[in-house]
Amino acid sequence: MTDLHRLSIRELSEGLAGSKFSSRELTEHYLKRIEKIDAQVQSYVTVTPEQALAQADAADALRKSGMANVLTGVPVAHKDIFCTQGIKTTAGSKMLDNFISPYDATVVAKGKVAGLVTLGKVNMDEFAMGSTSESSYFGATKNPWALDHVPGGSSGGSAAAVAADLAPFATGTDTGGSIRQPASFCGLTGLKPTYGRVSRFGMIAYASSLDQGGPMARSAEDCAYLMNVMAGHDAKDSTSMDQDVDDYVANLNGTSVKGLRIGIPKQYFNVAGLDADVKARVEESLKKLEEMGATLVEIDLNMTDAYVPTYYLIAPAEASSNLQRFDGVRYGYRCENPVDLTDLYKRSRSEGFGPEVQRRILIGTYALSAGYYDAYYVKAQKVRRLIQQDFLKAFESVDVIAAPSAPTTAYKIGANLTPVEMYLGDIYTIAVNLAGLPAINAPVGFDKDNLPVGLQLIGNYWSESQLLSVVHQYQQATDWHTKRAAIAEENA
Ligand code: GLN
Repeated sequence: MTDLHRLSIRELSEGLAGSKFSSRELTEHYLKRIEKIDAQVQSYVTVTPEQALAQADAADALRKSGMANVLTGVPVAHKDIFCTQGIKTTAGSKMLDNFISPYDATVVAKGKVAGLVTLGKVNMDEFAMGSTSESSYFGATKNPWALDHVPGGSSGGSAAAVAADLAPFATGTDTGGSIRQPASFCGLTGLKPTYGRVSRFGMIAYASSLDQGGPMARSAEDCAYLMNVMAGHDAKDSTSMDQDVDDYVANLNGTSVKGLRIGIPKQYFNVAGLDADVKARVEESLKKLEEMGATLVEIDLNMTDAYVPTYYLIAPAEASSNLQRFDGVRYGYRCENPVDLTDLYKRSRSEGFGPEVQRRILIGTYALSAGYYDAYYVKAQKVRRLIQQDFLKAFESVDVIAAPSAPTTAYKIGANLTPVEMYLGDIYTIAVNLAGLPAINAPVGFDKDNLPVGLQLIGNYWSESQLLSVVHQYQQATDWHTKRAAIAEENA
């Protein structure tokens, strides 16, 4: 078959179960596409053909023995922030260019138990800090819709791999939008779960109180399959929630759009810098949801102006603390011929980290320093609580909240935004992480340059099923999620 990459996850599962094709054939098909097409997209940092084919053969054997799971033999790409035993895990950094993890992240281990075949590790902004995937030590990933544009970030490799049909779905992580924004820029569906729903064990830490892993795929249905693998309590992560997990696939029709109350925050649609096409497409998608029976309710989220300053204190503060472990001593990059210990620390860190990471370590260290801790960090934590309360108040009168995922479509590569310009692009996503809420991006059309636009739906705690279900209903009634970038049409 030449079009295996066109199949949805359900179709792949059914095809494997019905012996229409084997996992080996499917895996070889994807590996060939990666070999042919990824030089243009640069979504993978590491491709692991030998391991993938061995996993595929094991999956086929399991199928024959009648012991297979739903996803046994389906390929996946992992963001290079998830530790993979025996395979390089870089977090997009020179600091970890030589790091081979001795263990699997829980998400990766769960994927193995489910029978997923790992195609390789995909690119990302260095240590997940960024919105374009340009800060990777391994070079910029390209947007499959327009190769001179960024795929978004930090999970840009995950998004580009799926959008170019170089993986049927991929894992991502979202500290301040890194699943939703690249999904938006690449025309995909991506879910950032409630904080604590997906284990962070073995997921290289950026900002621990904000980081959360989640699925990126073409549709809500495909995301639901991966979410069934990723979600769940993990004793190895003390912030993981010991609470029953929904069957996200079984619940895809569990929420009706009829009667759904969708909150429209007044402040969000008056943000300076909101692109006219993005606004128009998002409003059209809301109109569609209204036709399907939803009620649009105007709401207030009064803390909107505080999102960017609050996040850009808390995230760098936690990052500066988390990244202390990269000291040139225990693992990772070590400078040549250090003259003493201070020189070893200084040069290993200034040579091993790129400019954006260094900038955040400086901001974070400053915010946490004795003289400024109360004025910056403690203050930001107080504002964070107000932001959370703002959302909880809104959820008293609505079921979900609608917003763009990003104020613009994908930037041009090398647009050279100043750091502050780039941070302002996170306005719609970061508050969700500060509050720990779940949110999803769904593709809802294109701008004048044929670049994808995304709608974001934010839910109350533990409402992943509801979000996936609402987007699934929308995707049954529309076809934006079926559109493919030209490069994805190419056959290997
Ligand atoms: N762009 C945001 C940042 O740079 C979010 C990144 C993320 O979610 N990992 O922090």
